Formats: sequence, C-alpha cells, structure tokens
Amino acid sequence: MSIKIYISGQYFDKEDAKISVFDHGFLYGDGVFEGMRAYSGKVFRLEEHITRLWESAKSIFLKIPGTPADVINAVNDTLKVNNLTDAYIRLIVTRGAGTLGLDADLCKEPQIIIIAAQLALYPSEFYEKGLEIVTASTTRTNAGMLSPQIKSLNYLNNIMAKIEGHLVGCVEVLLLNSKGEVAEASGDNIFIWKRNVLHTPPADAGILEGITRRVVLELAEELGMKTKEAPMTRHDIYTADECFLTGSAAELIPVVKLDGRIIGDGKPGAVMKKLLERFQQETRK
Ligand code: PMP
Repeated sequence: MSIKIYISGQYFDKEDAKISVFDHGFLYGDGVFEGMRAYSGKVFRLEEHITRLWESAKSIFLKIPGTPADVINAVNDTLKVNNLTDAYIRLIVTRGAGTLGLDADLCKEPQIIIIAAQLALYPSEFYEKGLEIVTASTTRTNAGMLSPQIKSLNYLNNIMAKIEGHLVGCVEVLLLNSKGEVAEASGDNIFIWKRNVLHTPPADAGILEGITRRVVLELAEELGMKTKEAPMTRHDIYTADECFLTGSAAELIPVVKLDGRIIGDGKPGAVMKKLLERFQQETRK
C-alpha cells in the first residue's frame, strides 16, 4: 500500500503528492519544518515541535494556515491514516505558490505537508562503536544572516558541511560558529561530559535549539548531573571524557573521535548510556 501524504487538508498517494513548481519553498527554500518521532502511536513532545514551528514561521513572516490544534490533529491523523505507530514525521510549511520573483506577498496560500514514514536510523554499529567525525570548514550560518534557531527549509549550510564529512568518510561533522566556537553537528546538537559536568553550547552559539537537547538537559538534571550551557571550543571536545549528539531521529548517538583525536577511552561512555536509557524510558512510556 502506498503511503498517504497530507497536503493542506487532503491525502494523496505518494506518487500523486505534488506541490507547485512556483512554490517559494521549492524556488527559494522559503518555509519552515519539523522532524518528529512517534513512539507507540504517540508523537514525542508534539506540542514543543508545534511551538518551535510557529516561532520559526513568525520569524520569517509566514502565517501558518489554521491553529496549532488543527496542525496537531493533522499530524495525529496522518499517522492513523497510514496505520503507523512508530515513525518519523516530517511537517513542512511552505510559503506557497508565487511568481519567479522574491516577493513573498504574492504567495497567498502557504501549504502544509505532512509525511509520516518508517524510520531510517543510523546503522546499529554506529551506536555500538560511536561516530568518528571531523570539523567542517563551512561555519554555521550566523544569527545576523539567518538565525539558526529558525528551522527553515534552507539547509544548504548544513548540507555543504555534511558533504565535507562524506568526502573524508564521516557520516556527521561538527560546525563551528563565526567566532570559532562549537555550534552543532549538521543535523544534531552536541554534548560533552567533562570533569563530571554535562556541557552543551548555548542557544546563542548559533544552534537550532533541539527538542532532544532540551529533554536530555531535563533528564540529566533529574538524574542529579550538573549541566552547563556555555560556549565551548574544539579543545573542550578533544579533552572531554565523553561526547554525543542528540536529535529526534538519532536520539542520542556517541562520538568517539573528532579531527583524529580519540575522545575519552574511544568507546561510547557510561553517562551517555545512562541518559539514553532514561531517554528511551521517556519516549516509550
Ligand atoms: N540541529 C540541527 C541543525 C537540526 O537539523 C536538528 C534536527 N534534525 C537538531 C539540531 C536536533 O533537533 P531536535 O532534537 O529537535 O530534532
């Protein structure tokens, strides 16, 4: 059975799910999105994803059709229509069809698209052995250009960085900000464990404020760990006891090498494992 894709109130078979070639989402990457996961039929932290979507849209002057409750219903309905309980869900709002010019005022009908699909996870080997990553020479877009806090459809910055990783055989990369501080990975946030403190770069280091990042900070505090959101350099990662990435699709994934430096003992660490275990209880409860 073909999967059903939601486009602005209607469901289409995958083959027939189409948007206009004049949609500014396609022409200019003009739109916003969310990537979420459903566990046992329940979308994890759905309200937080919807809040971030609305904030991203507000920041780019995009009026999302309907209310947050309407979009929540549409997301849940898309899961039901597709008979999915455990899935990855992509929720997209595009500026809608306009002309070939940049004028956003001519785009009268923003489109809401929801795609619920089976999860495509990193191979289990990456979780067992940990990732080896490198720093990309492409820096993260700075907030004066376009805030990385906006989850926009324009991911070229991240894609360029990820290609650099692929060129040297790495599936993920580290992006720095324009000050040379650690920002995040191309599609995940980054944490280190050092001297009994869990560190992660702050929002103003030029990151997408991940929902998983927030949950991990909450769980760490619940577990009695000391947490710190403060600027971080690569040196801090090279000399950390543990390092891991967080994201809705990946959950928590260990990093064991950065730029050729082995992190800690070069194996996924105990703190990450403990947090991952708690995270999995949280998502599957
Ligand atoms: N940073 C970037 C650039 C991302 O695209 C994502 C999501 N894929 C994340 C961080 C993690 O965010 P979340 O935990 O909300 O999925």
